[in-house]
Amino acid sequence: MTILDIARKLLHEGTICDHCLGRQFAKLSTGLSNDQRGKALRTVLSMQASADKDSELLEELKKTGEGKCWVCNNLFENLDPWVEKAVLALSDYEYDNFLVGTKVTGLLAENEEIVWEESGTMFAEPLKTELNREVGKRIEKLTGKRANLKKPQVVVLLDLENNRVELEVNSLYIYGRYRKLVRGIPQTRWPCRECGGKGCERCGGTGRMYQESVDELIRPHVMAATLSEDTAFHGAGREDIDALMLGEGRPFVVEAKKPHRRHIDLNALEAEINIGSDGKIEVRGLKFVESETVPQLKSMKADKIYRARIEHDTTEEKLKSSINIISGAFIKQKTPTRVLHRRADLERTRKVHSIELESFDRNTAILIIHCEGGLYVKELVSGDGGRTVPSIASLTESEAKVIELEVIKVG
Ligand SMILES: [Zn+2]
Ligand SMILES: [Zn+2]
Repeated sequence: MTILDIARKLLHEGTICDHCLGRQFAKLSTGLSNDQRGKALRTVLSMQASADKDSELLEELKKTGEGKCWVCNNLFENLDPWVEKAVLALSDYEYDNFLVGTKVTGLLAENEEIVWEESGTMFAEPLKTELNREVGKRIEKLTGKRANLKKPQVVVLLDLENNRVELEVNSLYIYGRYRKLVRGIPQTRWPCRECGGKGCERCGGTGRMYQESVDELIRPHVMAATLSEDTAFHGAGREDIDALMLGEGRPFVVEAKKPHRRHIDLNALEAEINIGSDGKIEVRGLKFVESETVPQLKSMKADKIYRARIEHDTTEEKLKSSINIISGAFIKQKTPTRVLHRRADLERTRKVHSIELESFDRNTAILIIHCEGGLYVKELVSGDGGRTVPSIASLTESEAKVIELEVIKVG
């Protein structure tokens, strides 16, 4: 069948608009919109009909150009209300680009199946593809923003069934590094173990194990600046609650969910977080990143340098010789007893690059430990009842434990 044969067959089915006619040939010839394709086909067909004195076809052409399109119900003649709804919904948000999507009704989907079945055309595009594009073009014109197919900040969803527009507002991602200057603060929100967050006696009705976290010291400032509904905190690993995080700080990404503002002053945000946290934490180097940074951050196995104050019961000589053995060694660690209740019991191997003895007293010493990310430092010192091998305790044949821990470098 030629293209004109197919077009003629489609016209024979009943009233059809230029959009729906042309859309069946959307993959042929570029630079045209579907209604231009439809119009062109109708023109050629009527010229042919005149030449052939085909009064039946002329009559059909006249009839099928009027009334309601049986495929789309004249949806394409009535795009303005959709465009207005979309622009109104979008006006609540700051965004640079967007994408239009469509939830089609069952009836339209069925009509489309029938058209494809009848025409047998291989060149059609789906109705919603055309609708998304046409509404998108009009939104571009009205707002000056660009449609973005790959990474839209906002998705405008045309819900044809319920005759309304929904927005999916994608998160804004802000990268930075944090320093934790006091002990006793976890990195992220920690729901109460007893009640799971509902509030109980144990947590004093707060629903939390700890009243503050790095996450929560940052969160309100990000929410206020971006007018977002919530945030999520993604850290490149984490330090223990009682460990400090010093040096250049630990990389993190804070994700602002459903933000109304995106063009925010990160220097001002940084200052607000730092002033607001009262010396507990400090953030630096805030910058906007894409969502891909989060999985990159999570899989980052960066080296760490710790400063550990330990309690011991050994001599300087013995401690030095055990440090020499551990420097450059691979340490086998079973999941520490202290976290066994919430993590699987696995064995892992991590390298200690070097240990330096910064100072030595009769009962305490300070070690600078440079190791692979993921090493459990407390257990490296204590041996965790033989679950970490070798350890300072096993090599000095005496008890040893970390009493203060600081992270001084990540990466
Ligand atoms: Zn139509
Ligand atoms: Zn509780």
